[in-house]
Amino acid sequence: MSEKLMVGVDLGGSKINTVLADAQGNIRARDLIDTIADEGPDAVIGRTVEAIKHVASGVELLGIGVGAAGACDTAHGIVTHSPNLPGWHNIPLRDIIQREFDMPIYLENDATVAALGEYCFGCDPDIENLIYVSVGTGIGGGIIIDGKLYHGTSGSAGEFGHMTIDINGPECPCGNIGCWETLASGTALSREAVRRIREGETTTILDHAGGDIDEVNGESVLAAADGGDRLANELIALTGYYLGVGLVNLVDIFNPQLTLIGGGISNVGALLLAPAIEVVKQRAFKLPADAVRIETARLGTDSTVLGAAALVSKNI
Ligand SMILES: [Zn+2]
Repeated sequence: MSEKLMVGVDLGGSKINTVLADAQGNIRARDLIDTIADEGPDAVIGRTVEAIKHVASGVELLGIGVGAAGACDTAHGIVTHSPNLPGWHNIPLRDIIQREFDMPIYLENDATVAALGEYCFGCDPDIENLIYVSVGTGIGGGIIIDGKLYHGTSGSAGEFGHMTIDINGPECPCGNIGCWETLASGTALSREAVRRIREGETTTILDHAGGDIDEVNGESVLAAADGGDRLANELIALTGYYLGVGLVNLVDIFNPQLTLIGGGISNVGALLLAPAIEVVKQRAFKLPADAVRIETARLGTDSTVLGAAALVSKNI
């Protein structure tokens, strides 16, 4: 084989991002389509297979890696369930794709595999211990220990979003209360924005949601903050504070060299990260707090898709 090429797929709740990548993480071809998740697993898998065929047309592949927006049994290649992909219960995605493509196929949770993407293609080569945290609608992430993706016993390691941060906190969709993502995600940001708007606060957040309070989300708060809105800035700082509280736990437990914050809410940059870093300095143990750098993730929306491609080269 002349060159090592692989396909990475980011199977998300709203988009399917598929790339053909080389071993250095250079993207040679891309296919970006809507998931249309409401149509169910069969239709979504069909679109995924077509996207892979599209980017890999005429190419000899080493394999295919998939990062899926759901809980994955990586050993068996099964998406066990997903809050973002309706109807996905114990879907043997790896074997289904295998029937179409006779080559090694790997499946992993999207945020977990994003950690691998950042580690392989977004980090300095001296980084061996990395925590990646994705802050979007919820919070997910992945753990790299001594240069290897850490899966845990059942493959579910890195579900940071469900760490208990406030034992009396808000209800989480997972059934627990006070999980990290109920306090430091886009969902938390929009919930607090709606509460404060209903209390009568003056803000432009509503303007960024088309004047409809039911349409207020993390993005509308970010857009308002960008325009200098006082409440939006205050809410992002509060989210950053809670982000920092969770990071204290991760920094104390894992003693990483680098902690990268990705996901849609991380686009706001220092507005979110500065208060988070401040909390880590105040609360974490001195040794791990001194050792860690906390920064915005480098690969943006491609961390999952490149991590999925890297799954192939790491496993072969
Ligand atoms: Zn939870």
